[in-house]
Amino acid sequence: MGGTFDPIHFGHLVTAEEALVQFNLDRVVFMPTGHPAFKAEQVVTAAEHRYLMTVVATASNPDFDVSRMEIDRPGLTYTVDTLLALRELHGPQTDLFFITGADAVWEIVAWKDADRIADLCTFIGATRPGYDLQITAAQHEPLAKAFHIEYIEVPALAISSTDIRRRVAERRPIRYLLPESVAAYIHKYGLYQETA
Ligand code: ATP
Ligand code: MG
Repeated sequence: MGGTFDPIHFGHLVTAEEALVQFNLDRVVFMPTGHPAFKAEQVVTAAEHRYLMTVVATASNPDFDVSRMEIDRPGLTYTVDTLLALRELHGPQTDLFFITGADAVWEIVAWKDADRIADLCTFIGATRPGYDLQITAAQHEPLAKAFHIEYIEVPALAISSTDIRRRVAERRPIRYLLPESVAAYIHKYGLYQETA
């Protein structure tokens, strides 16, 4: 599961757990992005903070890991490089799944080497319960055919990092949107104090 995780929240964690169980995965690796190509214009919190918040949030789950692969790689982050590195690391027998928000699946078409990405992994797209999959799939034909996409319904999908950052800046509550340990980390280091 790739993401900026700025910060990680229950939407990400619920999605990961649901994917793990529904697809009988061995484990979920959270991969905080280094320098996301599509967020290059945006101010993103220091990679080390995002990495550590992800570690703190996932520490109690034996099936969750966090990888430094993307944050330690210099230059812009491209998903295809990460998938190739994971394929190399785990060998050809390992099935790779890319867990993401269902709408984000469609951003991949803008990613470098979308066709190679399609060959390297299966996508697990998180959707809101009741979200009409037929419509989205139809909107993205014929591109949708190139990718193998499975969908899961996630009730916590309305939570977003953007909303959490805004809440912190405006001194509004973030409790129950993310693990208490992550909220404590945010307050300890005074993250997100300024409105973006
Ligand atoms: P931002 O608001 O800064 O864009 P975000 O909450 O969308 O942050 P990201 O780090 O951008 O979080 O997301 C990482 C991955 O998790 C993306 O694939 C995104 O589609 C997915 N995602 C984001 N929020 C949720 C959620 N509430 N439930 C399930 N998946 C989510
Ligand atoms: Mg996002």
